Amino acid sequence: MGEKTEGKGLQEKLTHSWKNAWEVFNENEIEEVFETSEEYKKFLDRCKTERESADEIIRSAKNKGYISINQIIEDKRSIVPGMKIYAVNKNKAVVLLVIGKEELEKGMNIVGSHIDAPRIDLKQFPLYEDSELALLKTHYYGGIKKYQWVALPLALHGIVIKRNGEKVNVVIGEDEKDPVFFITDLLPHLAKDQMGKKMDEGITGEGLNVLFGSIPYNEKELSDKVKLNVLKILNEKYGMLEEDFTSAEFEIVPAGKSRDVGIDRSMVGGYGQDDRACAFTALKAILNVENPNKTAVALFVDKEEIGSVGNTGMESMFFENVVSELIALLETSYNELTVKRALANSKVLSADTLAGFDPNYPEVLDKRNSPFIGKGVTLVKYTGVRGKGGSNDANSEYLGEIRKLFNDNNIIWQMGELGKVDQGGGGTIAFILARYGMEVVDCGVPLLSVHAPYEVSSKADIYMTYKGYKVFFEA
Ligand code: MN
Ligand code: MN
Repeated sequence: MGEKTEGKGLQEKLTHSWKNAWEVFNENEIEEVFETSEEYKKFLDRCKTERESADEIIRSAKNKGYISINQIIEDKRSIVPGMKIYAVNKNKAVVLLVIGKEELEKGMNIVGSHIDAPRIDLKQFPLYEDSELALLKTHYYGGIKKYQWVALPLALHGIVIKRNGEKVNVVIGEDEKDPVFFITDLLPHLAKDQMGKKMDEGITGEGLNVLFGSIPYNEKELSDKVKLNVLKILNEKYGMLEEDFTSAEFEIVPAGKSRDVGIDRSMVGGYGQDDRACAFTALKAILNVENPNKTAVALFVDKEEIGSVGNTGMESMFFENVVSELIALLETSYNELTVKRALANSKVLSADTLAGFDPNYPEVLDKRNSPFIGKGVTLVKYTGVRGKGGSNDANSEYLGEIRKLFNDNNIIWQMGELGKVDQGGGGTIAFILARYGMEVVDCGVPLLSVHAPYEVSSKADIYMTYKGYKVFFEA
């Protein structure tokens, strides 16, 4: 090591390197990191769809005394600082709010995450029989590498609205006694042509057909007997008819639970961590906020993976309408200008996951600007594609403010970007909120194998992201 020279002293003072969170934690913190990761894994296992996530978020919020905004409107209750409120958008998106001491007009502190994840949806008329096998047609949702979804155990989650209007929840494949489902792949022995194709052509979208059954209905002179037998089982179990698929939302997701990864148990492997890593940490953070100065808001939105569209995505008016309702409840006379000011004066952490540096794929990531798993919550100034196209590009005044907040509160954080210049890219909900004039910066958890059926996060980052969101809510 040697003694401290003038140069070494200068180096320490002037240069910066990101810290590995594990080297900074004290014993108590390490304990908290592992405790938090146990909660996190349970959250992942309960929340495999946007609906299940919304249900879990509402359940946890109610336990902490959150009241439905509809109830408040109905009861004509007055809103007071410290009050905890939730609003649900069509069972697929949720807003949690803790009313601040300052007027709403001065702005809110918002953490916005998404609770949808890449998956494989059933088509609306999915069931068919081929070669005495029952199969389900699918259309994938979000950006998936199709070859990753074959030859692994899959579960079916969703709801069906039956002919009589009754709604039935379906989850098959998560209980150890449940059957699972499967998409077949070709054996290597006969895959010469397949293996010669480009990776995104080796398995096709129309080829992602789910194996669903193989016992024929026991009666001679009938066609499609395997399909009939499958329908018989669905009818006995759920009262379903084939036509009921047309008004169902069935999602095929990887079956099974999240797990610790690594001999040191430092990481979590599991499905849907983009973006439930940020949804979980934002939820845990807001549930621990009491009497904030600014109104704290956690947004959990749907449809991010397909462009934030539809009436449950960030592009919908839902959040703005919630703010309008609040202003109407808070003010003696409703004024739209107050709504606009409340939105424009708000600050946002756009809570989404990122690609952590992966030593297996250094060619697509700039090591100096890539986030690393285990180095804390990650701030991202810009995302976008080719020359920052479509990105929010946070203002440096705001970056400076968040950076100071994190430094002042011992939050281990790092700066990141989405990948090498011109190597592809992507976006988040950041630009949508920025339209109101809010200050917005992307801030979330780096992952490995993003969008794969099983993604990997560092327990240290989950903990630090929770801490980071919490100090932001309390700022
Ligand atoms: Mn995401
Ligand atoms: Mn994503």
